[in-house]
Amino acid sequence: MTEKKTIEKSIAIFGSTGSIGTQSIEVARKHNIKVKALTARGDIEKLEEQIREFNPQYCAVLDEEKAKILKQKVADTSTCVTGGEKAIEELAYNVKCDMLLNSIIGKAGLRPTLAAIESGKNIALANKETLVTAGTIVMNKAREKGVSVLPVDSEHCAIFQCLEGYPKKQVSRLILTASGGPFFGKKREELAGITPEMALAHPTWNMGQKITIDSATLMNKGFEVIEACHLFDIDVEKVDVVVHRESIIHSMVEYIDNAVLAQMGVPDMRTCIQYAITYPDRFDGLQEKLDLAKVGKMTFAEPDKETFVLLDLAYKSMKMGGLIPAVLNGANEEAVYLFLNHKISFTDIMDMVKEVVLGYKNIDTPTIEQIEEADRNARRLVRELACR
Ligand code: MG
Repeated sequence: MTEKKTIEKSIAIFGSTGSIGTQSIEVARKHNIKVKALTARGDIEKLEEQIREFNPQYCAVLDEEKAKILKQKVADTSTCVTGGEKAIEELAYNVKCDMLLNSIIGKAGLRPTLAAIESGKNIALANKETLVTAGTIVMNKAREKGVSVLPVDSEHCAIFQCLEGYPKKQVSRLILTASGGPFFGKKREELAGITPEMALAHPTWNMGQKITIDSATLMNKGFEVIEACHLFDIDVEKVDVVVHRESIIHSMVEYIDNAVLAQMGVPDMRTCIQYAITYPDRFDGLQEKLDLAKVGKMTFAEPDKETFVLLDLAYKSMKMGGLIPAVLNGANEEAVYLFLNHKISFTDIMDMVKEVVLGYKNIDTPTIEQIEEADRNARRLVRELACR
């Protein structure tokens, strides 16, 4: 018999109406986890439902007009509603809870992460752009404040589990698995005519639009390589990627004796979300049990770095360091946005991002302000290329 336990932790969910956000809500519901604060860009209908279910102290909405409407709608509750970018950042600092789960999409997640670390809260990080753009600053700040940054990404959650209990100096390699995206096996000529609709049909994971396109270009895997370097303080040369279409092995760690540890499971983000919240404990999961006989076989292949150039570009960007990973992220975010709006082609995403990154003048140890400026520049440069 399994005993019904309540997890005695309180969390804040930033980006609560998106794909990871709503799955985090399911985890909180299952285990009666206290939710102290919610934020979202502007889906106030979903926010209202979440407020009525969890009765958080605070809710911040990026869109200030929508914040005003929501404030009226939930006037009968005790939740305090605020609006705007600054409000979200202030809330990250001020809310009292054990952990802030950051599933904001894109670079907008950076400032709230820093504010939460500054206030001494542990972070469950689903926003990979935080580490891609400013990994050195973020992880240094976390060490300084004694704060844990726990990964919510499935690959990093797997590596985190495979690293448990072994000294870091015995690790020889991190092996990230990649589903390969919907265009695995295709060559460049075949990619030119791909539409957003085709790219949004991702084979395995249930994800938001931005990350689905990033998975199709392998940019997502590139970001994950950079993220892994920062999270686990490891050199980029020791991070490898292998295509594993079935997404059963979520990633692996190879040790100096050549033993390889893998973490497996049915692909379900709720596993990673829950583990980040409950670590170091484990509780009943929401996902299905893994039936290996039903899976039958697992396959592995080299990623096609020649066709999907953004993976290689991520390795290069990490080696160059400084502003370049932020430029990579900003350029990519803008290019994906233009592609989703039918303004540029699928292969343009790769070409434009590459051009902007390789042409950018770098500096060695940038400040947050310089990183944010590079991000804006990278976006502008992509828009200029798109008008050419
Ligand atoms: Mg992932």
